[in-house]
Formats: sequence, structure tokens, C-alpha cells
Amino acid sequence: MEIDYEKTLSYYKKLPLIGEEEHCHCIYCKNYALATNHFPMIVKTLFDDIGLDPKKGAEVSHFYQAKNSKHMYVADYRIFGKILKKPSVSVVDIYYKNDEDYFKLGFEEGHTSDGAIIFYIDAFLPWVLEEDPEIM
Ligand SMILES: [Zn+2]
Repeated sequence: MEIDYEKTLSYYKKLPLIGEEEHCHCIYCKNYALATNHFPMIVKTLFDDIGLDPKKGAEVSHFYQAKNSKHMYVADYRIFGKILKKPSVSVVDIYYKNDEDYFKLGFEEGHTSDGAIIFYIDAFLPWVLEEDPEIM
């Protein structure tokens, strides 16, 4: 994959942090922003390599809280550039313990009008906010 760093960086520079007023300040987005601190090291490194701030610009969807108390999230990030060689798999398991405890990421092309590549995270993340989502 060839990444247009300048375009990706300038796109992200303008964006508010996830969980801030201008993005969406719901408790689930706030928790997501903090949970990015707990991403596996390999994922953090990948974000650095792409030039992405994991706390910025994603479209965050919260699904539910699993019995193990982790929360299922899907977050879509946009990156600009082109995929030079189609990877053999479009979804990568960073780890998989069971159906409610895994961390996957993937890439999707050709779904946005601005030609961005969607880089997404599909994972069960810890709840790290002080506030309890159950009493909100
Ligand atoms: Zn939100």
C-alpha cells in the first residue's frame, strides 16, 4: 500500500479528537478514545506507520457489552493513497481468544466519494472511563 501521507496528515490535522464536542461527546466515544491507549503494541505501531492518530477522526460505533465486561466497537478511519498490491487477506486477526474477545483490523476500498481507503478496527475493548455506562 502506498500512503499519501500529506493528504492523510492534513485531513487528520483538521479533525477534532474523538469524544470532544465537535466530534461526538457520548460516553462510548469518550471511552473509545481512552481505550486506544490500550491497543496492542503492534496496532499502535501500525497507526504510527500510517501517520494516523487513533484518537482522531474515526467513525465510532459501539455495539454492546459482553459478559466478560469488554465492549464491542467498530471504528472506521480514512486514509488516502492507493493499495498497490491487494493483500491476500483484507481482515487481520491481531488476536482472537473467543467470539467476544478479539481484535481485528481490516481495509476496504472504493466505498467513499473522496476515494479514501477505510481502515477499520473491529474489537472488544476495555471500559476505562470512571463513569459506568450501565447507569447512564
Ligand atoms: Zn459517540
